Amino acid sequence: MKIPFNMPFVTGKEIRYIEEAIKNAHLSGDGPFSKKCHAWLEKKTGAKKALLTHSGTAALEMAAILADIKPGDEVIMPSYTFVSTANAVVLRGGVPVFVDIRSDTMNIDETKIEEAITEKTKAIIPVHYGGVSCEMDTIMNIASRHNLTVIEDAAQAVMCEYKGKPLGSIGHLGCISFHETKNIHSGEGGALLVNDENLAGRAEIIREKGTNRSAFIKGEVDKYTWVDIGSSFLPGDMTAAFLYVQMESAQDIINRRLEIWNSYHDAFLELERAGKIRRPIIPPECRHNGHLYYLLLENQEKRDAFISCLKKKGVHSVFHYIPLHNSPAGKKYCRTEGALPLTEEISGRLVRLPVWAGMDDDTIKYTIRAVEEIISGHAE
Ligand SMILES: *Cc1c(COP(=O)(O)O)cnc(C)c1O
Repeated sequence: MKIPFNMPFVTGKEIRYIEEAIKNAHLSGDGPFSKKCHAWLEKKTGAKKALLTHSGTAALEMAAILADIKPGDEVIMPSYTFVSTANAVVLRGGVPVFVDIRSDTMNIDETKIEEAITEKTKAIIPVHYGGVSCEMDTIMNIASRHNLTVIEDAAQAVMCEYKGKPLGSIGHLGCISFHETKNIHSGEGGALLVNDENLAGRAEIIREKGTNRSAFIKGEVDKYTWVDIGSSFLPGDMTAAFLYVQMESAQDIINRRLEIWNSYHDAFLELERAGKIRRPIIPPECRHNGHLYYLLLENQEKRDAFISCLKKKGVHSVFHYIPLHNSPAGKKYCRTEGALPLTEEISGRLVRLPVWAGMDDDTIKYTIRAVEEIISGHAE
């Protein structure tokens, strides 16, 4: 048995749509397939405007420009996240300010945000870990009282909900990733969701190299020229063709991931009752998408031993994140508000198990048995 941690899912229809994109003879950005992807995203999320990008990282970078992050401005976020959340701010000269996470969801601890706010604070970036929502009512309320922009890092959270609202559509801006490790993907890919209507026009300009090309194509202006800062953030239409197939199958893909997630969750209940592990906690107001399944082990030593034992049984598991405040760039460019005890503890105890839509039942059963054998062995 060799069970990889991730296998990018393909439906089989991708090649047909890519051929179609080639026949359409519009291979640059915003061709027919890009438009379909935008419409799908707008329908699923209710965002005022959805714009495909090259990556979730690129969407975060656009969001940082749109939030007008200037040198010295502060942006509150968890340290327990992927580097791109912080990098987007640092690239504008801004300073990420880290606060601790909650022990149940690993999301930013909303009760710690307010004490991190200073005169320089411009925005908050809640990261929906594993597609499980942050406490968005509280975060939006803090943001509106302090006049801050909320950028949801919904990279992992396609088709997830908080109190019935799609993630990525609650803050002023939302960023989604279509990297091959995410639920639906185009190899590399992403999207920016613009929920604040006032930012929609500028979002199109920034994405088109700082020009008003989008308005020109729509006939809204009669000249197409350089009007703002920007870059080339739009993917070609072949990428969009690949992605659109995945969007059409999104519900099936997510259903399968949830089946796998639930198989793990049911199987590991006994180990949790025996006090050997902790399983993920999903608050009742959150609907997730089976993006990732993790276990919390007793300590880092046991977690690391568990990963190598599982590897000997042919199952590839991984840990993450190295907290950003402990990384070389994090120390150089960021500020930490108070201590981050939970961030440090959890990053040492957490292990992620394989979850990918193509996993068959035997593979799931094998993985479950391997986990049970190792964890039970540890207790003796
Ligand atoms: C994947 C991910 C990103 C970056 O997305 P890319 O498409 O890989 O650039 C950002 N934030 C989080 C939380 C992610 O999981």
